[in-house]
Amino acid sequence: MSTPFTAPAPVYLPVAQTPLSFPVHRVYCIGRNYLEHAKEMGSVVDRERPIFFMKPADALQPNGDVPYPPATQNLHYEVEMVVALKQGGHDIPCEQALDCIYAYAVGLDLTRRDLQAAAKQGGLPWDAAKSFDHSAPLSTLHKVSDIGHPDAWMLSLTVNGESRQQGRTDAMIHNVASIIHKLSLLWLLQPGDVIFTGTPAGVGALQVGDQFRAELEGFAVLEGRILPSI
Ligand code: MN
Repeated sequence: MSTPFTAPAPVYLPVAQTPLSFPVHRVYCIGRNYLEHAKEMGSVVDRERPIFFMKPADALQPNGDVPYPPATQNLHYEVEMVVALKQGGHDIPCEQALDCIYAYAVGLDLTRRDLQAAAKQGGLPWDAAKSFDHSAPLSTLHKVSDIGHPDAWMLSLTVNGESRQQGRTDAMIHNVASIIHKLSLLWLLQPGDVIFTGTPAGVGALQVGDQFRAELEGFAVLEGRILPSI
């Protein structure tokens, strides 16, 4: 096939304990999935209709440093457990949802909080606030066959060595099976889909030069630095 320019490279994620690379299809995210975070944002939680949004696959930044994005004065971190699917479908029942999962990781749902506040106020979409380049730094994937599924895994984030966020995944309003079920009512889920499962309380701003370290239950670690704007 001839193309008018070089086709963009697919996005791959490293997998721990194996030479395999995980090919990414889409990145889904859920908002307001921890009550204490919804409260700190002054948001109302609708338990029947979770908020979903997406990031482009190439917003994923496998391990490492992130440039401070343009067009914001208030870049926020949100530490999240991340799920990677090996299997998809429509209308996946909760009881079968965990069978779709290949691996878990820890990531940051980086957010231009000032643009998000303006979007919320205007009743406008969140894309510019959430779906910018490099907005999803992510750790190595850890296979379910190595680590199992979460019961109450600890999620934590430090910035410059100071604790900023801590939460347990059993505090999620919609658990992982429910998120997969509800997403599959709206989209055809596919192998290669990646899901950010929401953030606990304690979100805050990042500055150029900040060093972040996110952890999920001791096995998944994401470390990086906020670099000057490109
Ligand atoms: Mn988030």
